Amino acid sequence: MYDILIVGAGPAGLTAAIYAARNNKKVGIFEGNVPGGQIVVTATVENYPGFGKVDGPDLAYSMFEQVMNLGVELIGSYVSEIIKTENGFIVKTEDEEFQAKVVIIATGTSQKRLEVPGESDFENRGISWCAICDGSLYKDKVVAVVGGGNSAMEETIYLSNLASKVYLIHRRQQFRAEPHIVEKVKKLENVELVLDSVVEEFIGDQSLGKMRIRNVKTGQERIIEVSGCFEYVGQIPATDFVKELGITDEAGYIQVDNNFETKIENLYACGDVIVKNVRQIVTATNDGAIAALNAIKKLS
Ligand SMILES: Cc1cc2nc3c(=O)[nH]c(=O)nc-3n(C[C@H](O)[C@H](O)[C@H](O)COP(=O)(O)OP(=O)(O)OC[C@H]3O[C@@H](n4cnc5c(N)ncnc54)[C@H](O)[C@@H]3O)c2cc1C
Repeated sequence: MYDILIVGAGPAGLTAAIYAARNNKKVGIFEGNVPGGQIVVTATVENYPGFGKVDGPDLAYSMFEQVMNLGVELIGSYVSEIIKTENGFIVKTEDEEFQAKVVIIATGTSQKRLEVPGESDFENRGISWCAICDGSLYKDKVVAVVGGGNSAMEETIYLSNLASKVYLIHRRQQFRAEPHIVEKVKKLENVELVLDSVVEEFIGDQSLGKMRIRNVKTGQERIIEVSGCFEYVGQIPATDFVKELGITDEAGYIQVDNNFETKIENLYACGDVIVKNVRQIVTATNDGAIAALNAIKKLS
């Protein structure tokens, strides 16, 4: 029996693991993908205190290494179900079952899709949700980025250094991103802003070749030729595996109290997966620390 099992090894889960392990608890952390969460697919992080400017994968690796050095067990599987028992929880993966007194959910979010015609045909054949993973495939080619938040801006900057041209397509006139990063993007000579516009269709043969764009104000349509398109149009919470527990809101985010505990005793959640306003690395690590410290208090 583990004292604490953590689901998800992004910044929130890794921070929870650091606090739990340093309190001499028996800790396991599940990760179905690559440890580090969304920072693994972030080109550059410029707002995590103490690092100035750091490559996302480097920051992710530092956090992960710190956790491994504390003797936390990494369980390289997706969790498919959590069951409440009399003494704690059973955490299920596809092939195994684990028991714990406390569970902390830190499964974050995944990228939303545009859900327009052609998207599924060209997924990973031109359409991507990760510039740092796939950007190099488009060296000296024309690509598009769709979105108006910080992620879209950061990845546009990253891609502008690789691609010959980047169309930045946003459905509104104003960007949601922080003003300083928007200014940076506007100064890039090989970035064309396509504002008040939505993607209507992805077109191609073996791989993506064109996109049909519609201006939402004028109704005018335009075809742009691109080799790649990177979508950053929002997130969806990774909470399918806890649907039955009734701990989420209507959008699927987990509801917690001030101690980061759900309505089920000893089941905590932290990071991007919970109901909150600001989803950043620093807020995820904050949540992970508080959730773990409250869980430790309960255990003792
Ligand atoms: C492109 C991009 C750029 C960004 N840039 C910045 C930035 O510059 N600064 C900043 O502060 N924030 C940035 N963010 C946001 C930041 O990355 C997130 O707020 C942060 O990573 C959230 O951490 P988390 O641990 O809550 O979740 P995540 O990082 O999403 O980690 C969750 C982890 O849980 C795993 N997981 C999910 N489901 C399961 C399951 N069932 N079983 C096991 N494991 C599971 C996932 O594989 C993932 O590794 C960016 C995000 C993106 C996408």
